Amino acid sequence: MPAPLTSGSEALFARARAVTPGGVNSPVRAFNAVGGTPRFIREATGPWLTDVDGNTYVDLICSWGPMLLGHAHPAVVEAVQTAAARGSSYGTPTEGEVALVEAIVARTPVERLRLVSSGTEATMSAIRLARGFTGRDVVVKFAGCYHGHVDSLLAAAGSGLTTFSLPGTPGVPASSTELTLVLPYNDRAAVTAAFAEHGDRIACLITEAAPGNMGVVPPAPGFNQFLAETCRAHGALFVSDEVMTGFRVSKAGQWGTDGAVEGWAPDLMTFGKVMGGGFPAAAFGGRADVMSHLAPEGPVYQAGTLSGNPVATAAGLATLTAADDAVYDRIGVVADALRAGIAETFTAAGLPHVIQSTGSMFSVFLTDAPVTSYDEAQRTDVAAYGALFHAMLDQGVHLPPSAYEAWFVSSSHDDRAVQQVLDALPAAATAAAA
Ligand code: PLP
Repeated sequence: MPAPLTSGSEALFARARAVTPGGVNSPVRAFNAVGGTPRFIREATGPWLTDVDGNTYVDLICSWGPMLLGHAHPAVVEAVQTAAARGSSYGTPTEGEVALVEAIVARTPVERLRLVSSGTEATMSAIRLARGFTGRDVVVKFAGCYHGHVDSLLAAAGSGLTTFSLPGTPGVPASSTELTLVLPYNDRAAVTAAFAEHGDRIACLITEAAPGNMGVVPPAPGFNQFLAETCRAHGALFVSDEVMTGFRVSKAGQWGTDGAVEGWAPDLMTFGKVMGGGFPAAAFGGRADVMSHLAPEGPVYQAGTLSGNPVATAAGLATLTAADDAVYDRIGVVADALRAGIAETFTAAGLPHVIQSTGSMFSVFLTDAPVTSYDEAQRTDVAAYGALFHAMLDQGVHLPPSAYEAWFVSSSHDDRAVQQVLDALPAAATAAAA
């Protein structure tokens, strides 16, 4: 298969690297994990990306989650154009903000919600609020869960299960992570031990509702409920981060598949990605008594010049409004077709693999045993993934350029796009197995 011409992307990458660290504005886009030149995208429509050299790709990144309806969905484009023509930011309240918040409150267990501009802001603010509400300082998180680049959450596990953490990156002082406890995911005993030792100091436990940032590692049955109950027993808040899963795994996110069925709700939740329809909008919310501690109702400060931006809220509202049952049915059908094709071709090629899912969100670990934690996720064959990635890219399929990411589909992935992925799999599996 001849590799597509990429001289335009290469020239732009060189230009970008001269003025931007690594040539990108978010590290994963630089292809460091898979090598090669990132494709500079000129435009996108439905499930298709077109790069500056005119190559088209079936998109299995979907902007890392937001594009539930695919690119340039007519309802979203119209909403955005109408909103932008009315002015793009006022710094005063608008009806659009109220409507978007109402739409989210209607779909989830949150009683009150505050809009922000990124998932990072949402988790950062939720933690500040949890600390302000409880008057406690310790935060518990899980290894492999990503909650944005909040200093205190860029923490690596300490040397023992209940020891406090070390900064996960230069630039974060030890004092920022010394109140963060990092535990192994899906490990009830570790949670119980941490709360037994530090329970009266723990403000909150934050978890991805279903982790997607170490690849998809679903919570063991009942794990989220156990976390909610453990937090309640110790007077800590349970913060469920649905930035990635919200409005994607189901209309009510991951919670729609566990909490709604089992009859519990998080104290606080965070959202982003899909709820912004491809624009910068995110949110945190939850129990009314907790949220009322937020300024201006309460003493915990939080604010934002562009929070509830009219164009972003219009895009988000148009996306949630269009996301009807047919949309969720379609992304389920697309994900099923891809999962079946991957299983069949990888098995035929002798390529060890485990496909893990929550709803239509899935990832493919190139290893032979199920992955339940961050340690186990490390067993995926990163070199084989690089070969798989490039063989797919050469055949017009853009996978996430990292072995530890979810693969995202949209309701715009039609049969032609699905078939293009399926047709590319055998050669890519052979390349990865080599
Ligand atoms: N939380 C989760 C679960 C995420 O997946 C992400 C981003 O991928 C974030 C928080 C941070 O969101 P943002 O990139 O919008 O700051």
